[in-house]
Amino acid sequence: MSIAENIARVTERIAAAACRAGRQPEDITLVAVSKTFGADAIAEAYRAGLRTFGENRVQEFAEKAPHLRELGILDSGEWRMIGHLQSNKAGKAVELFNAVDSVDSVHLAERLSASAEKLGRTLAVLIEINIAGEEQKSGVAQDSPVLDALLAAAPRLTNIRILGLMTVPPWSEDAEASRPYFRRLRELRDQIAARHLPAVAMDVLSMGMSNDFEVAIAEGATHVRIGTAIFGKRTKL
Ligand SMILES: *Cc1c(COP(=O)(O)O)cnc(C)c1O
Repeated sequence: MSIAENIARVTERIAAAACRAGRQPEDITLVAVSKTFGADAIAEAYRAGLRTFGENRVQEFAEKAPHLRELGILDSGEWRMIGHLQSNKAGKAVELFNAVDSVDSVHLAERLSASAEKLGRTLAVLIEINIAGEEQKSGVAQDSPVLDALLAAAPRLTNIRILGLMTVPPWSEDAEASRPYFRRLRELRDQIAARHLPAVAMDVLSMGMSNDFEVAIAEGATHVRIGTAIFGKRTKL
């Protein structure tokens, strides 16, 4: 199956899942996770109509960006950093990406805002939640004081906009195993939204990957991050 055929199938499945949930397919953004794949594969997805892409390493995307520019798609694509980001790479990330979905510390948020300010930009960000409290995983635990500290810092972080939450639940073959985590993320989003905090929006829920995106849509995902079902199996890490 070609990338274009894969995209057609995934797009149909997203629409069907949205309809089953009484939602509009347009309210769900497909983030094509292109990590480990080259600029040509990204261009193929772009020609099939996709505009939003997710990458998980700053250095890897820095190497792809010039090729994407040559192909004429760098400036019209939306590039989202979905992987763990070290604070010392914040400046480079702001140069390369339109959004960072993996903010998990006040320090990182401060570095991103300061870097964006230098470039005269505003960066969209999501707070990554480690929804199952897994030790080896990045993200803020839902009951961590870091979450409140990030939300409280929002008004002074003038060059980032906190737009919502992102999570990666524990991996399971069974998509239904993700459902309680997706539901929990939505409840957390609703609780934060109900506080009407200054400079905090909670419109985005980024959750669901190739194996469980339909369940995520049923639980309220606005962004699904899909790699394998579009580009095929990754052979590199
Ligand atoms: C790799 C990755 C995805 C995509 O995973 P697939 O199972 O290939 O769809 C989504 N989100 C994050 C954070 C990832 O690192």
